[in-house]
Amino acid sequence: MSIPETDPEGDGDGDGDGRPPHIAQAADEAPAREKVEQPPSRPLPTPISSFATPRRPPLRTPLRTPIPIRRWEPKCNHPRMARLYSGAYKCSGCGRSGHFGWLYRCVMDRDILILNAKSKGEQYAFDALGLDFGKMMSLGKFGADSRILRYSFLREITEEQLHTYTPLQLGRVLSQRDHVHRKIYEERHGLSPSKEAAQKYPNNARPWVPDKLWECQAKLCHDCHRIGSDKSWLSLNGIMNNDIPPHAATGFSFSNLGFRPEADVEVVKNIGYRAVPLVRFSSLSTLVFVH
Ligand SMILES: [Zn+2]
Ligand SMILES: [Zn+2]
Repeated sequence: MSIPETDPEGDGDGDGDGRPPHIAQAADEAPAREKVEQPPSRPLPTPISSFATPRRPPLRTPLRTPIPIRRWEPKCNHPRMARLYSGAYKCSGCGRSGHFGWLYRCVMDRDILILNAKSKGEQYAFDALGLDFGKMMSLGKFGADSRILRYSFLREITEEQLHTYTPLQLGRVLSQRDHVHRKIYEERHGLSPSKEAAQKYPNNARPWVPDKLWECQAKLCHDCHRIGSDKSWLSLNGIMNNDIPPHAATGFSFSNLGFRPEADVEVVKNIGYRAVPLVRFSSLSTLVFVH
């Protein structure tokens, strides 16, 4: 059998049968033994050890037709979302469960519905902690229930901030609020081409409260809606001032789980306080952690 890579021309580098000199010499000096010839076309056996994984054919041939990419078209432009921990829901963008066990869920209408349920004496929280924090929840001073008042803008800013506005700027802001109120009235009383407002907000006394059937329940995973992280923030200052969003007060994020995840307080209170170990190299070139 010739080995072209070692003796390409067969000109006597080996023993005449194409073998390299060192192989030929070793074979001649070795005691006679029974030689088992392998057919040249037979592949060498694959060594199997605890560190080697034998190659196996794929379980199925890959699909030749390209998978169509589903593109999500945003329909929820609301600015407030919260993480909803549950494996029961799928992302409305890609149809998958959240990679981290949660999805971003719009709470723009949910906050109002929770407050409305409380005002009607209905169940609005799933545990005692939510019922307790529920005494302090509100839509905030920028909420729709506050802005229904004609001059609510003057309550939203401090005396110091008020003096930074010129009379022209102040008049423009108030006229913009008037314009919004006028448009809301037109939509609710059929004076506008849009007929949805009266259906979605049927309560004339509290026109900011949506019908439950019209609640925006957009649920999206982090891959499909990364801006959801910017929408799901909480103001710690607001919470300290007893201005707690209803979904945060009632633990809406965990309502599907039925419990709130808890961590060991002894562990949590030390987070960030433990010294970061310094690393230096010893004379033996091994890593040594110095505490
Ligand atoms: Zn929404
Ligand atoms: Zn998704």
